[in-house]
Amino acid sequence: MILSIVVPCFNEEEIIRNFYDTTKSIVEKIGDISSYEFIFVDDGSNDETFNIISSISKNDKRVKCVSFSRNFGKESAILAGLKASKGDLVVLIDADLQHPPSLLPRMTHLIVNDGYDSVMAVRSSRVGENAIRSFFSKSFYKCINRISDTKIEQNSTDFRMMRREFVDSVLELGEYNRFTKGIFSWVGYKTHTIEYDNIERKAGKTKWNIRSLFKYSFDGIISFSTFPLAVSSLCGFIAFSISIVMLVIFLLKSLIWGDPVRGFPTLVCIILFIGGIQLLCIGILGSYISKIYLEVKNRPKYIIKSKVNMDGSIKNNKNDISKFNIDNLSDKKNK
Ligand code: UDP
Ligand code: MG
Repeated sequence: MILSIVVPCFNEEEIIRNFYDTTKSIVEKIGDISSYEFIFVDDGSNDETFNIISSISKNDKRVKCVSFSRNFGKESAILAGLKASKGDLVVLIDADLQHPPSLLPRMTHLIVNDGYDSVMAVRSSRVGENAIRSFFSKSFYKCINRISDTKIEQNSTDFRMMRREFVDSVLELGEYNRFTKGIFSWVGYKTHTIEYDNIERKAGKTKWNIRSLFKYSFDGIISFSTFPLAVSSLCGFIAFSISIVMLVIFLLKSLIWGDPVRGFPTLVCIILFIGGIQLLCIGILGSYISKIYLEVKNRPKYIIKSKVNMDGSIKNNKNDISKFNIDNLSDKKNK
């Protein structure tokens, strides 16, 4: 079995070498793994990340790197990494050691010996995490699980080991707006969940702030649910019903008692109410249209500036070389 370790990296100069040393020493002890490759995806870092990876790759040909022309975001980095991977098993892992590499032997065992197609790691708690972030994350998972057919585990992460078939299925979904956690759940397969305690970053700092997390959550909901569209129709229907009732009431009132000019405040309220609902619905509609717009433009999800050690060979622990086809690296659909 050959293992591909896919690592999206954005400004991780402080931790990347430590990550490589730690992960390498663990992977080398896994009996079921005959060979492995690291696929670092440098997501447009503007620090020394790329140079550090390049220098590691000079001594270890199993270390490969794809470097983007700018920061395209973690979802694009994941896609590029999965595309470049050649292993029978692929693990997606963060560079900051928050996804403990010590779980890799157990994950491998579950796939190789217990017949699972993928193993995903879930945080058992969010200890050490910012309280506001925890609250919004929990609310997001509750919300998406209620309104979408695609279920996403609470506290789930992108830390996941997959069989090649699973990865190929993930890659078949060519959408521009990628919400990987949803895609992993959508493709199905037999998945096992393992828990680990939340670990704080060993070095460097998180690339996410409240604004980017909101955007991420919103994109996730829009990508995997059309429920907001149903809400906008419902709002429209409720507003329409209320306005019909009001119309009848005011008509009768003015016919019976007459209503010279009075009723102005009611009118303003109604106009504001209907106007507000219309704007809300147009906004929701607009969110979907903007996603369609991006899909239709069919822009590349990322632009690769340079590649390191992507010569199609993986050097084995035992010094044998396994050749792989790298045709799909320059995926034409993606250019
Ligand atoms: N990352 C990336 N591109 C980005 C942001 C993050 O490739 O635009 C990588 C980052 O280097 C790390 C992983 O994604 O390996 C997770 O990022 P981070 O630790 O900032 O997220 P958190 O753990 O706080 O959710
Ligand atoms: Mg992190």
